[in-house]
Amino acid sequence: MEKKAFVTKEMVEEIVKKYPTPFHIYDEKGIRENAKALKDAFSWNKGYKEYFAVKATPNPFLINILHEYGCGTDCSSYTELMLSDAMGLKGEDIMFSSNDTPPEEFEYAAKLGATINLDDITHIDFLEKTIGYIPETISCRYNPGGYFSIANSIMDNPGDAKYGFTTEQLFEGFRILKSKGAKNFGIHAFLASNTVTNDYYPELAKQLFELAVKLEKETGCDIKFINLSGGIGIPYKPDQEGNDIKVIGERVHQVYDEILVPAGMGDVAIYTELGRFMMGPYGHLVTKAIHVKHTHKEYIGVDACAANLMRPAMYGAYHHITVLGKEDKPLDHVYDITGSLCENNDKFAIDRNLPEIEIGDYLAIHDTGAHGFAMGYNYNGRLWSSELLLKEDGSVQLIRRAQEPKDYFATFDCFPIYEKLK
Ligand SMILES: *Cc1c(COP(=O)(O)O)cnc(C)c1O
Repeated sequence: MEKKAFVTKEMVEEIVKKYPTPFHIYDEKGIRENAKALKDAFSWNKGYKEYFAVKATPNPFLINILHEYGCGTDCSSYTELMLSDAMGLKGEDIMFSSNDTPPEEFEYAAKLGATINLDDITHIDFLEKTIGYIPETISCRYNPGGYFSIANSIMDNPGDAKYGFTTEQLFEGFRILKSKGAKNFGIHAFLASNTVTNDYYPELAKQLFELAVKLEKETGCDIKFINLSGGIGIPYKPDQEGNDIKVIGERVHQVYDEILVPAGMGDVAIYTELGRFMMGPYGHLVTKAIHVKHTHKEYIGVDACAANLMRPAMYGAYHHITVLGKEDKPLDHVYDITGSLCENNDKFAIDRNLPEIEIGDYLAIHDTGAHGFAMGYNYNGRLWSSELLLKEDGSVQLIRRAQEPKDYFATFDCFPIYEKLK
């Protein structure tokens, strides 16, 4: 699939008059079309709900767009709960899927009336001691161990993952929770990440639906929802074929009709906690070439760095790059595209075929809408960029200003650097 940027050189030249590079920019139109497609794909399920994984893109303006399509939030930390609270989201709109959870986070989640998704059997006691009761609605995260495979090909390795209850613990945990007053039960599992195949959700659904039938039969617990969590990926590379959410929805429906309906469980709600799929493709990191360096290799130095987008440095992840205004030029140069961190892995691309790049060219780094800005950090004293929203009418809205030195130094109450320099 050809990857086209949703901004042009002319648009960026206008934007930078007000908001200098680097910045993350999000495409409202794309976000809306995708959110609608997801909603339609699961409309066969009466209780269906997507809880957007806040960690992927913790920006209230973007989450509010998703909320218009019925999405809630999936939180895993205190500040993510605060964000949902400040946005006015109600308990039923919040899923709290955390792990290694501090007590004050369970307290806050319970106060908001969020659905708590427990990560471990010992958290039953921990939760009860912390908040003083077991909520009527409760969910448990499942980890079957071993490998997660589809048609003999290994997709991921849950046996090596820190999350979730084992099968035995899940049965025991449900019994304990029931004895402590829980009434509405949910199962959650996240067994493979960034899957670029329509098979992941249907295969996961099959495993969870079979488990749910057994659990309900053997423990007498009333299973109200099954949470397929995140994991639907996006095609970062141009040669990858993206997921077809309509097909995925239909195939989960088939498995639902085959397994849950005959077991008398045709009223179970399907939940999802997608992050990457909801936002990933609808964000670009826009950065300017500020240096051309010729040594043992050809380097282009840009004004963004791994502090603005960590995935390439952290995972060696591929992010497609469009040199704006040179979309039709031949890819006859080979470059490393680097940031300024004093770390040799601060490269957005290595040995990438691109058109000739000159100082002042703008580069759009694709698919930064999820796990992009959000993973930003301040190493080397580098500051976070701004976040902009490209609205459907073509206008641009600032949805988070860039960090300034005063923000970076703000926690030095004991040595107020910024104040000393004023
Ligand atoms: C990260 C995460 C998600 C979202 O994952 P994506 O790969 O972005 O879809 C959903 N649920 C939980 C519990 C997570 O930790």
